[in-house]
Amino acid sequence: MKDTVTLTGMVLVASPMKDYDKRVELLTKERGRISAFAQGARKPNSALSACTIPFTFGEFQLHEGRNANNISSGVIKNYFGDLAQDYDSLCYASYFSEMARHLSRENIEAGEELMLLYMTFRAIQAGKVKMPLIRRIYEFRLMMLCGEGLEIFECLHCGREDAYDVYFSEGGLVCGECADKSGLKKKEYYQHISKDVRYTLQYIATSSLQKLYSFNVSDNVMKELDKFMTRYLDRYLHHHFKSEEFLV
Ligand SMILES: [Zn+2]
Repeated sequence: MKDTVTLTGMVLVASPMKDYDKRVELLTKERGRISAFAQGARKPNSALSACTIPFTFGEFQLHEGRNANNISSGVIKNYFGDLAQDYDSLCYASYFSEMARHLSRENIEAGEELMLLYMTFRAIQAGKVKMPLIRRIYEFRLMMLCGEGLEIFECLHCGREDAYDVYFSEGGLVCGECADKSGLKKKEYYQHISKDVRYTLQYIATSSLQKLYSFNVSDNVMKELDKFMTRYLDRYLHHHFKSEEFLV
């Protein structure tokens, strides 16, 4: 006896199976990351062919079998296929998908992660925010959602909120005095964080998803943000994403 469920989700990746089938991984609101087979999805007239293309957002009906899930139908709510028409957009969308795959879990609700990915793809389409900044916003917000966030509002050690100088440390930011006292400045990940970058991180952490992609930053802030995010992800993720190599 098989059970049927309807899940809201996004196709993260699709790969060919046998002669005509596809295996897809979905990020779903209800079940987090799941994999499923779409039988016959590579036949030209298959009803499953369009809804199993990467970056398709919609509702998927699945038969949950003992060993595998099978997609029986799908209703496309938003098709981000045009992201694949532009090389840079495709590279970034692929990277965002790969990161979501890595950080999401099976059978754990992922409504916020899903909406973040959705709004991120919308931001790529809108073209108002530069792609490298979209990347940093997405990474920081996703890390927070997945429990890898940092303390960015007050000094980790003394709780001061109005410190002029702050530095990146294990777990968050610390004020200048505490950085001096704790010997932080000798650590390899030591980095001074400017006020602008601190505000940018605080905005990314607290903004509604609707307003998340509504600002740009100067070249200097972007450079500092890049440096900070590289160190932060190195330290907390210990993972190399294949699609990252294609980002400009
Ligand atoms: Zn302090």
